[in-house]
Amino acid sequence: MIKKLLIANRGEIAVRINRAAQELGIRTVQVHSSVDKGLLALDLADEAVELESSSGTKSYMDINAILAAARTTGADAIHPGYGFLSENANFAEAVEASGITFVGPAVSTIRTMGDKATARKVAKQVGIPVVPGSDGVVNDLGAARQIAEEIEFPIMIKATAGGGGRGIRVAQCLEDFGQLVAQAATEAKAVFDDEGIYLEKVIENARHIEVQILGDGHHFVHCFERECSLQRRRQKIWEEAPSIAVSVSKRKEICASAVKLARKLKYRGAGTVEFLYDSKAGNYYFIEMNTRIQVEHPVTEFVVGVDLVAEMIRIASGEDLSIKQSDVVVRGHSIEVRINAEDPGNEFLPCPGTILELRIPDGPGVRCDHMLYPGYEVLPFYDSLLGKLIVWGQTRDHALARLKRAVSETRIKGLKTTLPLFSILADDNDVRNCLFSTDWLENWLEVNSIDEHKPNLDETT
Ligand code: ADP
Ligand code: ADP
Ligand code: MG
Repeated sequence: MIKKLLIANRGEIAVRINRAAQELGIRTVQVHSSVDKGLLALDLADEAVELESSSGTKSYMDINAILAAARTTGADAIHPGYGFLSENANFAEAVEASGITFVGPAVSTIRTMGDKATARKVAKQVGIPVVPGSDGVVNDLGAARQIAEEIEFPIMIKATAGGGGRGIRVAQCLEDFGQLVAQAATEAKAVFDDEGIYLEKVIENARHIEVQILGDGHHFVHCFERECSLQRRRQKIWEEAPSIAVSVSKRKEICASAVKLARKLKYRGAGTVEFLYDSKAGNYYFIEMNTRIQVEHPVTEFVVGVDLVAEMIRIASGEDLSIKQSDVVVRGHSIEVRINAEDPGNEFLPCPGTILELRIPDGPGVRCDHMLYPGYEVLPFYDSLLGKLIVWGQTRDHALARLKRAVSETRIKGLKTTLPLFSILADDNDVRNCLFSTDWLENWLEVNSIDEHKPNLDETT
């Protein structure tokens, strides 16, 4: 078993990883950037080290500084969390080259699936439906135009190295296409240091359905699906498990596809295979795989009762999967909402500031994974995710009732958060009846305003 785990991340996920490691009897090392001295995880970890880096606030991206911290503290493994270096194959390679265990899949898996155009090819090879689109990255505008006309507009232009909902453009017609391709490539180079782009047909009224998988290189299981269709700017903000939109037979098919891919990759660790689902036609299409723990993993943990982060650490230690497929059974329904330091009443403007008052909800079926304490200063340099409120109920309605109850118990004073949005959404008819697709929330936000003093929009519209 791993003896000392270095956590190369921050925020709520650092707290989550620290908990799993300590429960397994593993000592923990929490790193931090020079400005990030107030991290909650620093208080909880067994050891804390400041990253020695000239990158300042960006030192969580400094591979050498992280390796140096591991050497100084004698850590024998590194958990990358999500974001930052979690899907960086060069980082995983450097970690392993230093004789340290990387908590994640093989370097080659990260490299293959981290390139989204290549990932599509692998999925296709094993017979998984992919969104109609280009065969790999497109280098030539003429060829791209031809493909676009074949698959028909609207077309999505996507960065092959993209993530976090960024590096995506939608072209409605051929006239806009050339300019948008150029813009997408420029943005991809600037943000992801890779100008590669590929094309996909826009699947209209699609639902985002993703399958949690686990593998130890020999055995592969799925932990069923999550539905993450409520998105803003292609970023999830509300996630559920299971999905109400898929039938029993469709669920079986989608989950089997994900396991097939895991088997092909001889997957090790926790991963997510993402699909778009056209519920009217009953078709599903692979879009990408995330070779890491995901933000929304707790909804799966709630319904199947598996500690996904502990399982990742055990697998990285060389153990076999602790569960078989027949052990994985869904019980009840879980919903997660993302508490971001953003003002939902003002274009989701980031709201850094100091936490003046804090009451975290609890009680039956409520879990809150967060990074907060009174006096904590939310810094402007990092992702605005403060934490996640996750609820479990026997049924979806029960989970919705608990979500409303838990949101109303929560007090986060000192800055604005996305929380008021969730009590409104929990009362919305479409949300209650699960009548949404990935563009639903954007459209809803265009016609509804979020006013803190009128928590129930039904009364005002
Ligand atoms: P999940 O797939 O777990 O829901 P998100 O897409 O919300 O994750 O991303 C989680 C975090 O990781 C966010 O902070 C996001 O900005 C960041 N992220 C994800 N992929 C990338 C990437 N390829 N490059 C940079 N940041 C990324
Ligand atoms: P990222 O790597 O940034 O997570 P994804 O490829 O997973 O990017 O796509 C993010 C979101 O963008 C999806 O959940 C979906 O809402 C939307 N999207 C992506 N591809 C398509 C498509 N071909 N048609 C319609 N929507 C799409
Ligand atoms: Mg995605």
